[in-house]
Amino acid sequence: MKRHSGAVLVLSGPSGAGKSSLINKIFDDIGDCYFSISTTTRLIREGEIDGVHYHFVSEEEFIKDIENDLFLEHAVVHGNYYGTSMKPVKEALSAGKLVLFDIDVQGNTAVNSRLGDITTSVFITPPSLSELKNRLQNRSTDSEEVVERRIKMAKREIQRISEYDYLVINDDLNEAAELLRLIAVIARVKMSNDELNNFVQLWEDI
Ligand code: 5GP
Repeated sequence: MKRHSGAVLVLSGPSGAGKSSLINKIFDDIGDCYFSISTTTRLIREGEIDGVHYHFVSEEEFIKDIENDLFLEHAVVHGNYYGTSMKPVKEALSAGKLVLFDIDVQGNTAVNSRLGDITTSVFITPPSLSELKNRLQNRSTDSEEVVERRIKMAKREIQRISEYDYLVINDDLNEAAELLRLIAVIARVKMSNDELNNFVQLWEDI
């Protein structure tokens, strides 16, 4: 049966879990996909490019987009606004692509409530809290205060792991990437309720 609509793969987990490295590692091996570039009001970090890693906007612009109902979901994370614009996601789904989201637990709840039938969710974490601390401190792009805030947040987010379909522990990068690649391949097969109903209808019509 030919598929027309795409599917969604949500990736969540604390900053420092290695989500970006994992996505980069599997991106070319999981077929036609679209990585959703979020919009944020947080300050741009060294090495980040506007329009590639995020769309960096002012708080005023972000609030205007909320009022114009342009977001599929949005949330305040670590005191900054983050949001997923609806339009590119809709276009990618209509083109049959697998849409990848790197969003927090609030975003996962929101995406599941709107696109739950085609969504697979994965929580990615380092093997331990102390390993997370090491990774964040070694990254040295954030102040001590920001690192502390991220660790506190990680402790809170980990409590909601059961809301996810899969847990990937990123200890060995290659092993974690292989597991994530398999999950992404399976995520694409998930059918929307409409597609399932159409399939059932074909049987009725015979
Ligand atoms: P960072 O500032 O380290 O890039 O991201 C901080 C957190 O915000 C991460 O947990 C990331 O998954 C989350 N995040 C990034 N973009 C979005 C978004 O569009 N929506 C939501 N809900 N969370 C996001």
